[in-house]
Amino acid sequence: MIIKLENVTKIYKIGDSYIKALDNINLEVEEGELISIMGPSGSGKSTLLSIIGCLDKPTSGKINLFGFDILKLSDKELSKIRKNYIGFIFQQFYLFNYLNALENVELITKIANKKNNKAKELLEKVGLGNRLYNLPNQLSGGQQQRVVIARALANDPKLILADEPTGNLDEKSANDVIDILKKLNKEEGKTIAIVTHDPRIAEQTERIVVIRNGKILSDNTTVDEALEL
Ligand code: ADP
Ligand code: ADP
Repeated sequence: MIIKLENVTKIYKIGDSYIKALDNINLEVEEGELISIMGPSGSGKSTLLSIIGCLDKPTSGKINLFGFDILKLSDKELSKIRKNYIGFIFQQFYLFNYLNALENVELITKIANKKNNKAKELLEKVGLGNRLYNLPNQLSGGQQQRVVIARALANDPKLILADEPTGNLDEKSANDVIDILKKLNKEEGKTIAIVTHDPRIAEQTERIVVIRNGKILSDNTTVDEALEL
């Protein structure tokens, strides 16, 4: 088991009001799974992903990731978990505009203090071997997202968390991105969780988890069922 959430609840406090973003979530994901998390806007998908990514903590519940009892760890230890085990992909690319593709990826491989700078190899893996020296604004949206994937792979993470990774892309680029994620799952055994509201993306994953009002409405559903919920 790579992810195990037990009775996870997240409550945000804004002024005097409380928002229950996650309501008693139970979720288990095995190593090597490719799952999508679907649900309408505001249902808690991003909150769920940031809690799994150790970017935020729940109000209550229990979380085990990679065998670690996450809520017992210090912030420093959590940062290590993120660095060593998790790759993040967001809808926004967060690339440095004044650095080329290679430098954007190198930055993270250098941050990670890896002996071999494998940034070039990672960019070749995502099909950008011929665009190493292009700045982000010289790349299409799909190509920029592939730079982001290369960057997410820099630490050789066991788990890849993608929040609407195709949200800003046209259909062709979206498919390219999903094909790369599927390949990383199949060939390298990466565990991948993709938050999406796009049924064409969700239907390409093995397992669809539907979330609504902070609750898991169904797990392992088909895309047609998910759309009817
Ligand atoms: P989704 O990703 O499905 O759109 P979110 O996880 O972003 O849903 O949000 C779930 C609920 O929590 C929403 O009602 C949202 O307004 C609220 N929320 C999310 N982040 C915060 C925050 N940092 N502070 C307060 N409320 C938040
Ligand atoms: P720390 O605070 O200890 O430096 P971070 O929260 O900054 O840890 O980093 C956590 C994870 O996010 C690491 O895997 C790191 O490689 C990645 N990361 C950090 N900065 C960026 C960035 N600008 N773009 C993409 N990934 C990043």
